[in-house]
This record gives sequence, C-alpha cells and structure tokens, in this order.
Amino acid sequence: MTEKKTAGEQLAKTLFDTPENAYEALSEQEIDTVYAFSEGYRAFLNACKTEREAVVWFEKAAKEKGFTEFDRRATYHAGDKVYKTVAKKAIYLFVFGERTIDHGVKLAAAHIDAPRLDLKPRPFFEEEGVAFAKSHYYGGIKKYQWTAIPLALHGVVVRRDGTCVDVVIGENETDPVFTVTDLLPHLAKDQMTKNMAEGISGEALNVLIGSRPFLDDKASNRVKLNILKILNERYGVTERDFLSAELEIVPAFAARDVGLDRSFVGAYGQDDRVCAYGAAMGLLEVERPTFCTMCALVDKEETGSEGLTGMQSHTLQYLFSDIAAMQGVSLTAAYENSECFSADVTAAYDSNYPEVYEKQNSVFVNRGVGVAKYVGSRGKSGTSDANAEFFAKVASLLDENRVLWQVGELGKIDAGGGGTVAMYLANLGIETIDIGVPVLSMHAPFEVVSKTDVYMLKQACRAFFGQK
Ligand code: MN
Ligand code: MN
Repeated sequence: MTEKKTAGEQLAKTLFDTPENAYEALSEQEIDTVYAFSEGYRAFLNACKTEREAVVWFEKAAKEKGFTEFDRRATYHAGDKVYKTVAKKAIYLFVFGERTIDHGVKLAAAHIDAPRLDLKPRPFFEEEGVAFAKSHYYGGIKKYQWTAIPLALHGVVVRRDGTCVDVVIGENETDPVFTVTDLLPHLAKDQMTKNMAEGISGEALNVLIGSRPFLDDKASNRVKLNILKILNERYGVTERDFLSAELEIVPAFAARDVGLDRSFVGAYGQDDRVCAYGAAMGLLEVERPTFCTMCALVDKEETGSEGLTGMQSHTLQYLFSDIAAMQGVSLTAAYENSECFSADVTAAYDSNYPEVYEKQNSVFVNRGVGVAKYVGSRGKSGTSDANAEFFAKVASLLDENRVLWQVGELGKIDAGGGGTVAMYLANLGIETIDIGVPVLSMHAPFEVVSKTDVYMLKQACRAFFGQK
C-alpha cells in the first residue's frame, strides 16, 4: 500500500523541478537496451583512437546504410543519403528530407579529435644509449597524466611519391607499447614542490622507443640507427619521411566497463567521440526525414576549430550552398531555418572535487544528456547563447520523446570554463544549443561516462532528426 501524499508533497511534485535518475526512470528492458548499445560503443572506441580512424569507421558504417559520396552535379531526392569527407579527418553525413534545404537542416555537430601527444616532425634522438621520440602535445592535457602509462602509436607517414603508410603499434596483445618516463618519488623532492602545470614540462614528454644498438663500432647514434632500421624494414620509410607524417601517441589500453555494476564506460578519447557516435547512430536510423538532416563530425576542436578540417572551415557553407543551388532554393533561408545540436561533452559533477562545481547548476551522471544554454568563461565569453524560445522547443522535443535530460553549467563561474563549436554554427544564423554527455576525468587518458547518458544522447539526436 502506498502512503497518501500530503498536500505539501503533492504541491512540491507539481512545482519543483526535480531531475530523474535513469535507473529509476527506465524499465529493466530499457536498461538492457542501454547496456547493449554500450557494447557497440566500446567497440567503436577501440577502433577509433584518432580522427582519421573515426572517419574511416563512420564512412564504412554510412556506406553500409546506403550512403554514397556526395556529388554536387547529381540530383538527389527525399531519403537519399550522402557523405563528404575532408582531408580524411572530418566527415559530413547528410540525408535529404521531404522538404528542400531552404526549410532548414536539422544538424548535429560533434568533434572526433581528442587530446594526445603528437610526434614532432623530427622526433627521433638518442641520449646515453636510450632512444626517444619527441612529442608536442595537442589540446588541453594535464601533462603529468601522460607519464608512466602504456602508450600506442597511431597515424600515417606519407612518402614523397604520395604513398601513405598506416601505422598502428601498441594495440595488439603481442605489440610493444611506448611510455613517457617520470621521476621516482625518491628523487622528486623538487618536482613535488612544483605546481601541477609545471611538474612535467612539454619538452619532457619524450616517448621511450628503444635501447638496442646497431652493432657497428664506427657509427654514432646506434640505438636511433637501429630504430630507423626497424622502421625502414617494416614500413619502407626513412627519417625524412617523418617530416610529412601525422603520428599520434595515445593511451594503449582498451575501452572497459567500469564499476561492479558495469554502469560506466571508461576509455580514451570519449570527448567528443561519445557524442560523435551518438549523433551518427541517431542519423543512421533516419529514413526519409521531413527535413534535411546532417551530422558534421569535425576535427581540431581541441585546438580552436581552425583550419581545413575544423568547424570554422567553410566546408559546411559549401555543402549548404551546393545543395541549395542543386534544388534551386534560397541558401540564406537554409541557414535561417536550420537548427543545430552542438553535441559535445560536459563536465559531470565529481564529488571528489565539490569546490569547482555549483551543485544546483551542475550535470550529474545517469540523469541524461546535459543541455547548456551557454558555456564559455569569464562572464560567458566565447560562447553561443541558445535563444530561450529555441531552448523551450528542444526541451519539449526531448520530453515528448522520453529523452532524459538535465540542464547545467560547466562548473563554478570563475573556476575556469570552456567552449564548444556552437558559436561557429550560431554565427551562420543557425539556432544552436549545446547538448552532450556528462564526463568524469574529461581530457584524461581514461575518461568515464555513464552508459545511460551515452544512450540518451543517441535518443536525443534521433528525436531531433525525426522532427516532422
Ligand atoms: Mn575537449
Ligand atoms: Mn569536446
């Protein structure tokens, strides 16, 4: 027998905004669906540790769903599916709607780059019989987190004749891995008194790659020589070829379930591949939508979205322009009537560090996707601010489709802050809102998300693309 609610309890239920926990809101069967979805997600993470690998993965998944490469001279009809890749590091997926593009596009934008150590153009050196590769970190990392963990090498080396060598070392059980050494505590008296930003310097992030010399008394740098000999035998490359290479040092470990109840996924690079995956999976479920639908899965967000493959490039405008011209409709109307989910992760409330969060306006794991009206820092600088009317529209869309969501800011007002690609879309005249999965240990080599939130991001995008 349930106890009768008091008048106060009833009124509170009506008037208070009380967030729901996914495990209480979802049925057992729905939670099974959530856990099953996370299996595919983990496999995706293991296959995609770089933006190039993500593009290959999304292109293959899209082709299997009937997507073909976009051809601006072709004619397309409602339900036709196309994709466009840019420099193998960004991919745009597009499904034509019943309505022409001047009625607007339902667009989700996410990024597929992640913080890491890139090899410098001239990486290899030897010191006292030990060979290293110099790195230059990419994106916002806490440098100390990248020492003393197993690392893998992923990327490409492009030879002068244009042939490209794909490199992946450190992912198979039998592969060697790499690491960045750190000081033993016994000799770290000075290091331990430095602040965490200075404890490890950028130039100290040298990757350990070998120690066995090429046996010849006359040659110098014999360990480095032997390393280059191994690389030459395996890949047919010389030191000069590394000038035209993109090689990334990433954590060597695989995505894992975290927790006795397996409620989390822990892995490298979930900012923002978790949203890229959810948005793309949502789009791949779409058949013959009312409006044109699109996923922009872009690179370089972690360094400011600049350049050829970033969200600030004009690729999106060119695509809109090509499609508007093809359909003989207004390009400016296409922008004005479009709506965008800027799908990027947000900081989950971490009770180990309550001092940086404002609890009442934080997002929490297992309460669904985090929706943010604005992000930015120092008084909302560097952000798009979603219009209240658009926010209300999105809120009602999510509610109607039983998508769990919560609202939150990225930490306390002056604790720091961050940006997303939202402003670049909004600057085009597109109604844009930030929406994403809450993450624990964001930007660390091992980031953690909750399975229910991952699923809700996909459901949110699915609902958004399916609007009538
Ligand atoms: Mn980030
Ligand atoms: Mn991000």
